[in-house]
Amino acid sequence: MTATAPRPSATDPRPVALVTGGNRGIGYEVCRRLAGAGHTVLLTARSRQAAQDAAERLAAEGAEVHPLRLDVTDDPGVRAAADRVAERYGRLDVLVNNAAITYDTWQRAVTADLDVVREAAETNLYGPWRTVRAFAPLLRAAPHPRIVNVSSEAASLTNMGGGTPAYTASKAGLNALTRMLAAELRADRVLVNAVCPGWVATELGGPGGRPVADGAAGVVWAATLPDSGPSGGFFRDGRPLPW
Ligand code: NDP
Repeated sequence: MTATAPRPSATDPRPVALVTGGNRGIGYEVCRRLAGAGHTVLLTARSRQAAQDAAERLAAEGAEVHPLRLDVTDDPGVRAAADRVAERYGRLDVLVNNAAITYDTWQRAVTADLDVVREAAETNLYGPWRTVRAFAPLLRAAPHPRIVNVSSEAASLTNMGGGTPAYTASKAGLNALTRMLAAELRADRVLVNAVCPGWVATELGGPGGRPVADGAAGVVWAATLPDSGPSGGFFRDGRPLPW
């Protein structure tokens, strides 16, 4: 099926997965792998064209991938995306909150530009939060719902030092959100986990990191956990990290 072919209906038995920031980097590889694992993948990007182009590239490989515009900082846009998914599928099985910005190696906490800190939080913390709020009813409607918050070991309080304050604070907030959501959604069977992909060679990670496929694997692991799997945890490569 191509990225522009007729869309499957709410009766499609394949799990439906939505990935934010799916047009490049780790998110793109997660889309590829989830499609390979039999999911119908909604590849979302803040630019409609970027979503379309990336979905077409994966569809050319035979993947079941559909583009959808979703800017995680755009409240009405996120709600509109949830409405589209509700109309087409009536549920969401997997939500991967992957989109993120601002690995601010140039900053120190003691002198940080708080506008940069706020901007990072808008995407890295409020983005996933906003997305979960909008999609929670659709996740509850799924038989085996999963949320993966793509985080970073930089946000581990146990090992935290100085530097990258905007990024680190936003991801520490995301980890806290992970714990709260896991507790609040437990009764609805939603498994919610935070995953560090490791240092990965992407635009955000820069050169020298491990291959994108290695970083994506741990995200896909958390997205495809069995019902007996963990919730409220922090993992890299399927192994627990200290909070
Ligand atoms: P990239 O910079 O390669 O990709 C980031 C993605 O997020 C892009 O698709 C980008 O879209 C998207 N994005 C940014 N802002 C928004 C927005 N407002 N709405 C929707 N999408 C948006 O980063 P990575 O692939 O490296 O990072 C993926 C995840 O992994 C992030 O959560 C990151 O923090 C985490 N991570 C990465 C590490 C690494 O070493 N690479 C290490 C630890 C964690 P656009 O193309 O439009 O900019």
